[in-house]
Amino acid sequence: MKRIQTISISPENAVFSSHDLIFLPIDPNFQPTDEQFKQSMALLESDYPDSEIIGDCFEHTQFIDAGQYFDTIHCPYCNTEIPLEIWQNWMTISFKNTQFENLEITTSCCSKQSQLSSLNYSGEDGFSSFVIRVNNPEPNDAMEKEIVEDLVEINQTQFRCFYRMS
Ligand SMILES: [Zn+2]
Repeated sequence: MKRIQTISISPENAVFSSHDLIFLPIDPNFQPTDEQFKQSMALLESDYPDSEIIGDCFEHTQFIDAGQYFDTIHCPYCNTEIPLEIWQNWMTISFKNTQFENLEITTSCCSKQSQLSSLNYSGEDGFSSFVIRVNNPEPNDAMEKEIVEDLVEINQTQFRCFYRMS
């Protein structure tokens, strides 16, 4: 059973933009404990002291889109581009039947078993029950890599990050 919980940090001097940096676990169903959630937020607060940061736990797995960076989707097996209509149909079925608990699909191009979360999204869009959004971050590859490593350490599960433009 998953829970709904939000922690937001909004510094008085925060400057807002349409750019978010999203940190999310690779496992679509992972949720942190209270302590892991607090530690994760404290880590990001110390690295982005001037940004609004929002951490969310969702009751059901969500599609975490990359906004304007959402573009093409390719098959992880044969690299064929998946037509948007087919993908939207998979999304509708998975959401309607299981609220994204079951993300299994059979690829239309090469008939392989896969998951909606395992397709290659050009915007790096993903599925998650836990995300942390940092608004208006200063891009910094080395720091982002280090944060991902620290989140893995705190939460004991794999993480990744991507940029979203709304
Ligand atoms: Zn394929």
